[in-house]
Amino acid sequence: MIYSHTPSSKAMQAIADVSHTPFWLDDPAKPTSKPPLTNNISTDLLIVGAGFAGLWTALLAKEENPNRDIAILEAGESAIGASGRNGGFMDASITHGFLNGVSRWRKEIATLHALGVQNLAEIESTIKRLGIECDYHRVGEIDLATEPYLLDGFKEIIELAKPYNINFELLDRAQIYDIVKSPIFIGGIKRFDSSIVNPAQLAWGLRQACLNLGVNLYEHTPVTKLIEEKNRVIAHTPHAQIRAHKVALATNAFPPLLKRISYYVVPVYDYVLMTEPLNESQRDSIGWHGREGLSDGNNQFHYFRTTADGRILWGGFDAIYHWNNGFGTQLENRPASHALLAEHFLQAFPQLEGIRFTHVWGGAIDTCSRFSPFWGTAHHGKTAYTMGYTGLGVGATRFGAKVMLDLLDNKKTERTELEMVRTKPIPFPPEPIRSIGINLSRWSLAQADNNHGKENLWLKIMDWVGSGFDS
Ligand SMILES: Cc1cc2nc3c(=O)[nH]c(=O)nc-3n(C[C@H](O)[C@H](O)[C@H](O)COP(=O)(O)OP(=O)(O)OC[C@H]3O[C@@H](n4cnc5c(N)ncnc54)[C@H](O)[C@@H]3O)c2cc1C
Repeated sequence: MIYSHTPSSKAMQAIADVSHTPFWLDDPAKPTSKPPLTNNISTDLLIVGAGFAGLWTALLAKEENPNRDIAILEAGESAIGASGRNGGFMDASITHGFLNGVSRWRKEIATLHALGVQNLAEIESTIKRLGIECDYHRVGEIDLATEPYLLDGFKEIIELAKPYNINFELLDRAQIYDIVKSPIFIGGIKRFDSSIVNPAQLAWGLRQACLNLGVNLYEHTPVTKLIEEKNRVIAHTPHAQIRAHKVALATNAFPPLLKRISYYVVPVYDYVLMTEPLNESQRDSIGWHGREGLSDGNNQFHYFRTTADGRILWGGFDAIYHWNNGFGTQLENRPASHALLAEHFLQAFPQLEGIRFTHVWGGAIDTCSRFSPFWGTAHHGKTAYTMGYTGLGVGATRFGAKVMLDLLDNKKTERTELEMVRTKPIPFPPEPIRSIGINLSRWSLAQADNNHGKENLWLKIMDWVGSGFDS
């Protein structure tokens, strides 16, 4: 079945009275902000950005060497970016899924998979060790098919993964119906190295752990520029400067502090809805008592999961790029995308007609042309950066943080030797070709979804140059 894209009056009613604050950030557990930087200071390691990438960098660096003086400068509040507004799917993959990984780094996919599984296990043990309450559950994720050609694709993935000992399970229509009752899902593929989490609570837990170890955090302190000076980098902020031996940039899809990053990353906006908590009869009508993370397997896909208080988060499908890397809070509310999502939700779960959504929001994804992270250094090795997670960074940013520390400490490790780490994505062309190319890809992906997965010439060319998309 293909979703119909005209929002009905029922869908419009369902989103008629909503908060535009991301659900995860609308939480009494949200910590009070730390004051901004107002005096000039020096530090060993400066981290710019307090999302997952920045917070993991601080925590890992401080745990490795408690004497290292570390400061984090955050433009807003910790977790205000993608880390506090995502779906909360935490996958072991550091390559944006097995298929994307194997198509780019076939020779090292076994190592990349093992490193990803190890990363997820270490996140899990850190959550336990630090006692972070964040509704973390290793429940696995199921990609669902709405049409037979998608099921054929799942079978191909299982065959492709066999030599690497990666465990997938094919589920038929009856098995899926036992898990979640929807008229549109005809089968699925389950992977086990995947969890759900309340992402803001995890980020706040990491923030608190950093503070407990003596990391200096300054919120509401945007870095406006970085200047290299002899053996230091000077970060300028509105009221003060900070001199650092090393700088880790963890600014994700935000306007970058190094011009070179803007060739590799484009901010693409993704949208999310959250329902009210389901009552008992609504819950019984859909089953889904297991809390598995779910998504449908199309190019333009939805992701959905439940929360601790029995809501459903439903996001994805639209991915909107704005001219010349357009970025800002005004782009986080897109009524047309929210209405479309509400309509699709009611098509997937018609038995929930009458349900209300309480929160709708959007956020920028740091999309790069290989859909998985990359790293680099600047200022003669004194600054390092990681970004490009393209919508799968809740877990992978911790691996990215480790690599960033390896690079800053000039350490040769198994990680820094990876081809994935040593290479960069294909840069995006300048405008107007950038917009034309991205929008043509988006249109072509939608066409393929409407045409049983058949790719047009443009998508074939993109695959050939190594920029094809596997959802
Ligand atoms: C709607 C949405 C859904 C998603 N769903 C999932 C999902 O389910 N699973 C998954 O794995 N991934 C998902 N992602 C992606 C995931 O959220 C990100 O990959 C991850 O959170 C990136 O973390 P980060 O620390 O790099 O970035 P961010 O959390 O964006 O943090 C960057 C921080 O840097 C700060 N900053 C930027 N510039 C400056 C500056 N000049 N000075 C100071 N501070 C600065 C920002 O204020 C921000 O707090 C989703 C993303 C979005 C937007």
